Amino acid sequence: MRQSLIFKYLRDFSHLAFPFNCFGCNTALEEDELPICKECFEHFPRTYYWRHEENTVEKLFWGKIKLVRACSYLFFTKGGIVQQLMHQLKYNSKVEVGHLLGKYFAQDLDEHWYKDIDVVVPVPLHKDKLKSRGYNQCDSIVSAMAQEMQKSYQLTAVERIRANDSQTRKGRYERWINVNELFSVCQPQFLIGKHVLLIDDVVTTGSTLEACASAILTLPGTSVSIATIACPSPV
Ligand SMILES: [Zn+2]
Repeated sequence: MRQSLIFKYLRDFSHLAFPFNCFGCNTALEEDELPICKECFEHFPRTYYWRHEENTVEKLFWGKIKLVRACSYLFFTKGGIVQQLMHQLKYNSKVEVGHLLGKYFAQDLDEHWYKDIDVVVPVPLHKDKLKSRGYNQCDSIVSAMAQEMQKSYQLTAVERIRANDSQTRKGRYERWINVNELFSVCQPQFLIGKHVLLIDDVVTTGSTLEACASAILTLPGTSVSIATIACPSPV
């Protein structure tokens, strides 16, 4: 029996024993399908914000910090496929979802959107959170995007110096102080004078990304763009 045939039988057998289901819709996958089925991939709710200046994500930061550009890849809706994927990535250790979405995002982005980027970095987790979760859900997105865009990336250049306390009970001024003491650049040599692409999984109010970008923008000659996998769907 040819070796490739043996592998095929083994793979078919393992598929029967442990069928692979789509991360998005949970249907059984065909042999040649990726962790997300073709149907889900084709129907990804893409924002196409990268083709529109002054898009909704860019506007979140207007009057707050100066960005070169900003966009998100997909719209999330409550209970929808994107929320399910994000949940798998964030709470179920499915880092392959991050790799896959990062790769698809970079492939869908127009090259001119990222051609002047020098380095890609994630919004970091606080070390306590990193310890309890075991991984930063943004790292897999960053490495996959950087690889696809042929850019370098730095996973540890920025650190989160405090866990994000609940901000809802605080007044406006205290909230500003709170957010602006969240991040610090611990390896500035990797970011000084560079155009940094800052990545997060989801953007909602933008306050965490704003705080992280502000820390990076204290470096001389450094500029920042922002990209996230998901943002709320406009209703
Ligand atoms: Zn599916």
